[in-house]
Amino acid sequence: MAPVFVLTVFIAVLCSVQGRSTGKASFEKSEEDMEIDSTNTNSIKEEDFSASTLIEKANRNLGKSLDEPLVMFGDIAVNTGFMNADPCTASGCKWKKYSDGNVYVPYVISNQYSAPQERYVIESGLQTFAASTCVQFIPRTNQRDFVDIQSQSGCFSYIGRQDNGQVVSLNKNGCVYLSVVQHEMLHALGFNHEQSRSDRDSHVRILTQNIMPEMEDNFKRINTINLGTPYDYNSVMQYGRLAFSKNNQPTILPIPDSSAVIGMATQMSPIDILRINLLYNCSRQFD
Ligand SMILES: [Zn+2]
Repeated sequence: MAPVFVLTVFIAVLCSVQGRSTGKASFEKSEEDMEIDSTNTNSIKEEDFSASTLIEKANRNLGKSLDEPLVMFGDIAVNTGFMNADPCTASGCKWKKYSDGNVYVPYVISNQYSAPQERYVIESGLQTFAASTCVQFIPRTNQRDFVDIQSQSGCFSYIGRQDNGQVVSLNKNGCVYLSVVQHEMLHALGFNHEQSRSDRDSHVRILTQNIMPEMEDNFKRINTINLGTPYDYNSVMQYGRLAFSKNNQPTILPIPDSSAVIGMATQMSPIDILRINLLYNCSRQFD
């Protein structure tokens, strides 16, 4: 698992709210917060490569273009007529398991990614799944269902397998990072955000008064299937404490220890990996 990560939420939040308030005001607020949080074990560095921060930065202006799917829950795309994100994995949105015990998820990577480095990051991210689970992303040949990786506006994915090709957007300017590739592919495999879990109120407190009004849907609780796994602050699906904050005050606080580090994962946690293996009944033992 990743080493202890330093917290850089404040700088990240500066970026993520600039479009919604003046940069100056945000910066002043964030400095105040830095002082408050200096009591934590977290320190600050200039860049934050956690999935949560990267996605929020990339998505902060998302959802304004009419020809794109509606994006809710921060980076989850939904088709017209929002279905409650009930765990569809119980009713057919899992990917097919083959007789050899593997789950093959075909993918196409758009030629929008002209830089070799971009394709390398995406493909490396996809390959991490095969290293520790029975999910194998494979280049599409003629399969009906596949993930169609494109550089649309922001980072987003549908939840679970859709019929026919499904777009996973990894915008070239902000989403092409290992953690974001893993995060969006976990959505495509059927997983929701950690703070949406059915039992989240025992582990985090949602501070609605600090959430941007138009973003409150991101904090709805979902009747998830939790597979007997514990709530995981280190999940790559956990958002940071300042996600979608309108005032640089926390929107998600861990409980009972409000200073616990949350939402800083830069790669899948052991529990993220365990859940894939449980959901897809992977039989092979992985290290
Ligand atoms: Zn997400």
